[in-house]
Amino acid sequence: MSVDYIIVGLGLAGMSFAEELTAQNKSFIVYEDQSQNSSLVAGGMYNPVVLKRFTPVWNAEEQLQTALPYYKKLEKKLKNSYDHKIDIFRVFKSIAEQNNWFLACDKILLQDYMSSNIIKNENKSIHAPFGYGRLVRTGRINANALIHDYRELLLTKKLLKKEKFLYHKIILREDGVTYENLKAKKIVFCEGYGIKKNPYFDSLPMKEAKGELITIHAPELKVDYLIKAAVFVMPLGNDLYKVGATFNWKDKSNLPTEEGKEELEQKLNTFIKCKYKIVDHLAGIRPTIIDRRPILGMHPEHEQLAILNGLGTRGVMIAPLMAKKLYQHLEHNAALDHEISIARFQ
Ligand SMILES: Cc1cc2nc3c(=O)[nH]c(=O)nc-3n(C[C@H](O)[C@H](O)[C@H](O)COP(=O)(O)OP(=O)(O)OC[C@H]3O[C@@H](n4cnc5c(N)ncnc54)[C@H](O)[C@@H]3O)c2cc1C
Repeated sequence: MSVDYIIVGLGLAGMSFAEELTAQNKSFIVYEDQSQNSSLVAGGMYNPVVLKRFTPVWNAEEQLQTALPYYKKLEKKLKNSYDHKIDIFRVFKSIAEQNNWFLACDKILLQDYMSSNIIKNENKSIHAPFGYGRLVRTGRINANALIHDYRELLLTKKLLKKEKFLYHKIILREDGVTYENLKAKKIVFCEGYGIKKNPYFDSLPMKEAKGELITIHAPELKVDYLIKAAVFVMPLGNDLYKVGATFNWKDKSNLPTEEGKEELEQKLNTFIKCKYKIVDHLAGIRPTIIDRRPILGMHPEHEQLAILNGLGTRGVMIAPLMAKKLYQHLEHNAALDHEISIARFQ
């Protein structure tokens, strides 16, 4: 059997590249072993503003312009809804923060996303004496449901192999690769933190960050916007809210921990004043590169092997645009910007 591409991994990166190949009428097979779950546990929030400093996210507008139509197209294709538009309310810690917000609202790159009205908190279940700043054009992609549905679609089309991809079985040829009984022009590795086990790309400088999230049931909270304070609180419906996330640079496992849960509860209790019950607890590893930029391109010695990784904390917004850029690079030799190219580490 012969295909244009083998894709390894079906998180946000692998799915975006598979969709780009579909749009370009290229054939592919995906290998997926469920060893990583960053995309499956992700909060799924998309937001063009850095909420700590009130600065624009790198390349935010271009990312949104590609990502929003991409998710809309997937909703149509899979006959389900994944993109839940929702405003983000940033809790102010002080008057000084309110002032910083006003200053940021006037900046050209931010004025489309930030509302300059300060919102007074009237919800007794929330402690927010300085009120909120409101962000617009934000939302949440239900990445877990989306990837689950996409996986089912690929399975029915016989385009997905639910198995570990074994690097020692790759045979490099002049015009492509052979893997078991499959011939392909190229392999694109979209393995998230799994890249650490890939002998062709394991030396890339990752600074992966484990994240934990809890889901709470809080019937008295009654909130239909996303709150960002010490942690974010994201409404899921039926009085359920996702709360996250932690950052841990030492623990490399996907397992939820007691310390992670305690940290989330302690931060949540600083601003949520009603009763809640924890009903779920998940963890995953964010594939972050040391300079916090994605990493794309071909292996320096083997052009048949490529990578799409480093989506870090913002896979929802970044993945679709990066998949397009990688495709153009691999098929049409389009140059990759240095800041996203694998060449920056060579
Ligand atoms: C707690 C948490 C909260 C987050 N919240 C957000 C958020 O709100 N918004 C946002 O935009 N981003 C968020 N992120 C970040 C986002 O999840 C990541 O940027 C994104 O998921 C990375 O996608 P990926 O496809 O590169 O990696 P992954 O999702 O990890 O996918 C890698 C895939 O490769 C497979 N794989 C690896 N090795 C092999 C192999 N040898 N053979 C076969 N398959 C293999 C894995 O099983 C998996 O399917 C969050 C992350 C975490 C952990």
